[in-house]
Formats: sequence, C-alpha cells, structure tokens
Amino acid sequence: MNRVLMIGAGGVATVAAFKIVQNQDVFNELIIASRRKEKCDELVKAIHNKGYKANIKTAQVDADDVEQLKELFNKYRPELVINLALPYQDLTVMEACLACGCNYLDTANYEPKDEAHFEYSWQWAYKERFEQAGLTAILGCGFDPGVSQAFTAYAAKHHFDEIHYLDIVDCNAGNHHKAFATNFNPEINIREITQKGLYYEDGRWIETEPLAIHRDITYPNIGPRDSYLMHHEELESLVKNYPSIKRARFWMTFGQQYLTYLDCIQNLGMSRIDEIDYEAKLADGSGKTAKVKIVPLQFLKAILPNPQELGENYDGETSIGCRISGIKNEREQTYYIYNNCKHQDAYNETGMQGVSYTTGVPAMVGAMMFFKGLWRKPGVWNVEDFDPDPFLEELNQQGLPWHDEIGGDLEL
Ligand code: NDP
Repeated sequence: MNRVLMIGAGGVATVAAFKIVQNQDVFNELIIASRRKEKCDELVKAIHNKGYKANIKTAQVDADDVEQLKELFNKYRPELVINLALPYQDLTVMEACLACGCNYLDTANYEPKDEAHFEYSWQWAYKERFEQAGLTAILGCGFDPGVSQAFTAYAAKHHFDEIHYLDIVDCNAGNHHKAFATNFNPEINIREITQKGLYYEDGRWIETEPLAIHRDITYPNIGPRDSYLMHHEELESLVKNYPSIKRARFWMTFGQQYLTYLDCIQNLGMSRIDEIDYEAKLADGSGKTAKVKIVPLQFLKAILPNPQELGENYDGETSIGCRISGIKNEREQTYYIYNNCKHQDAYNETGMQGVSYTTGVPAMVGAMMFFKGLWRKPGVWNVEDFDPDPFLEELNQQGLPWHDEIGGDLEL
C-alpha cells in the first residue's frame, strides 16, 4: 500500500496533491495534514471540484510539535511523509519520521525561526540515524533546490567528464498585476532575498552585499532580464558532490518595482524577524487592549496578497535552468538545460501559479521515484545523489517538459 502523508496545505502542497491524485496508480492513499484542518478540507474540495475522484483523509497538526506529529504518523502509518509546510518544521518532522519508521521528503532546507540563515548541516546531521533506521530522506525536491540538482546530475552523467562552471538561472517573467506580492510564502521569500549573496569560487565561499551583483541574462522565449546573484541552498551540496566545480553561482530575476518595494519594506523595518511589543485591541469586542509581541515580517505576511490567490490573473512564464561548462573527451563543452512554465497553464490545471507548480510537481515526482524504488536508500540525500534519468523523464510527462542545448553561448 503506497500511503503518503503530506504536511501543509499551501500553494506548493495544493499542486503536489493534484499531481498525486492524477497518479493514483502509484499513490494509493493520500492524507493531508496542516495547521488548520479547514485548509486541508478546502484543498480536497478543490480537487473534487476539478472532477478527480479520490478518497483523501485530512487532519490537523502543529508540525512544530514532535509529539503531535508522532501521534499523527502512528495513526495513519504513512510510508512516506512529504513535508510541504515551512523550512522551520524540517527537523521536527524528521524526528517524528525516525520515531515512527516513516521515510521523508521536503522542498526547502531547515532554517531556524529566529535567524534568517539556512544550511544543510542541520539536516545532514540526521544521516546516520536514517541509515540505521533503514529509512530514506530526500532533501530539497522542488525546482530549485530540486530539479536544478537533477539537471546538474544529468549534465554530469551524460555531457561532461568534469564540470567546471555552474550557473543556476531562475527567471520569473510573469506578471500578477499586484503592486507587490511574493510567489511563495512571503516570510520565507523575504528572508531569503534580503540575505547576503554568496557564491563559490576556487575552493572558497565569497560573500556579497544583498543583491549587489547583477547582470542581464537572456532567457528562452522571454529575452534579457536583470538577474541578481543570490545565495541558494543547492550550491552547498553541488560543490560538495562535484568537486571539479571551480565556480558555482545562483541568479534570480527581479523587476525594478519589486526591488523598490523591498527597499521600502526593509527601510521601514517591516522585514525584521525579532519580536516587538505592540499594544493591540482584544478581538472580543470589549475595547480592552493588551500588550502583545509581534514579529514585523509575520505581520507583513498577514497583509500581503496570499501567493495562493495570485494565479487567476498571472500571465507570462518562468524559466529555470542550469548553464554549465567544463570538459568532455578532453574538449571544452557548454551545456544549457532548462524548463519554461506558463503561469496560466499551471492555474488552469491546479488553481495555483507557476512558482507553486514548478515546486509541487517535482515534489510529487520525487515521491513517485521513492515509491517505484528508484530513489530509495537508507540515509539523508540531496537530489543529485540519485539517478536523474527516470526523474527527468517523468518530469516531461507531468507538466514540466525540459529542453537542452549543447555548445551554445552561456553568456556567463
Ligand atoms: P505556504 O505558506 O503557502 O504553505 C505552507 C503551509 O504549511 C500552509 O498550509 C501552512 O498553514 C502550513 N504550516 C505552516 N506552519 C505549520 C505548522 N507549524 N504545522 C502545520 N502546518 C504548518 O507556503 P508554500 O506552499 O509557498 O511553500 C511551501 C514550502 O515550499 C516552503 O518550505 C517553501 O520554502 C518551499 N518552496 C520551495 C521551492 C523550491 O523550488 N524548492 C520554491 C517555493 C517554495 P496555514 O495555511 O495555516 O498558514
């Protein structure tokens, strides 16, 4: 019985649930659990309203609480837990998986709530315990991280003897027609973008001021877009797994309007993640006030557009890929592998925009690889640790077809 339990009912989880239901030959049972059960029920309703027949169970859980997670996992006994809540919950979910004998998959690496900092060391530290328990943990199986690593692994397997230069290029050329909105959880997104930049060169990590380095990069079917060098988690595992890499960087596009708003948000102190005291009226209508602690960025999240509701008016497309150069058969080689995804296509299929779609589909495909026994080995693994071929073949079938080009101008 291939029973999967998904945590979270946000944008990415919605897409993953649709794709799981579309592949019931692989996934026999689905349970969706999140902080609010009503969100899970709404998701099930949306799936049924699209005409899919599936018996999906829903549950409430606070994924910050290992004991609650253990109770949930012991009740439903899933073989695989797909964690599509927030990066803050990665370690509690991994702990509960170990306690209950469940395998694990997520799409973003752990990050503590009180520090805007992410790195794999916290999750890699679980490697031995997963090995000893005979359980598989697949880390970062969205698009980037995720497909970006499968693309690199595919390049290494088929097109290079040595990879020397790697640039992951992520363009969202869509327009949601809002003054300012983020494409996935606003809190996580703004924490990521306002961090210092980081890239790898000649064996060391080089830090830059946030978004300090940028240049035009030309994206297929889109054209040139200003692209900013950022730190991104998959660089950490890729330079470790491909030691021939001399330089690895990650680029993401931002429009001028987005950056102007971001600048204001920061200057106003709304991106702060520390608690401030605030005197607020009680919600009971009594008119009484109480001193409460609020985190400005969490308050901002509450008033920004919900990324799940951007899809309807979102036009344009995303283009994410890897531009790689190195050596094949003693000759210099360049290679570009990428996917373009139209926001409206994603919306028509799942009700979500392209960024949720490009993350939720690979999460489902990674889970499918696990259930087919192709990506199953005890331990804690990044996507490039597995065979990229069946994963990328399946991605083509599941709504994210990719393209590649050998010998072109990489621009970078
Ligand atoms: P959302 O905020 O839309 O969804 C998160 C969901 O998790 C919500 O349903 C939320 O509940 C639930 N949740 C939050 N905290 C808890 C908790 N303590 N216990 C139980 N449930 C909880 O985020 P997205 O769907 O946009 O993103 C999901 C994940 O995907 C994030 O980790 C994000 O970083 C990652 N991501 C990865 C990408 C990649 O390419 N690899 C790209 C984009 C995102 P509620 O609805 O009540 O708030």
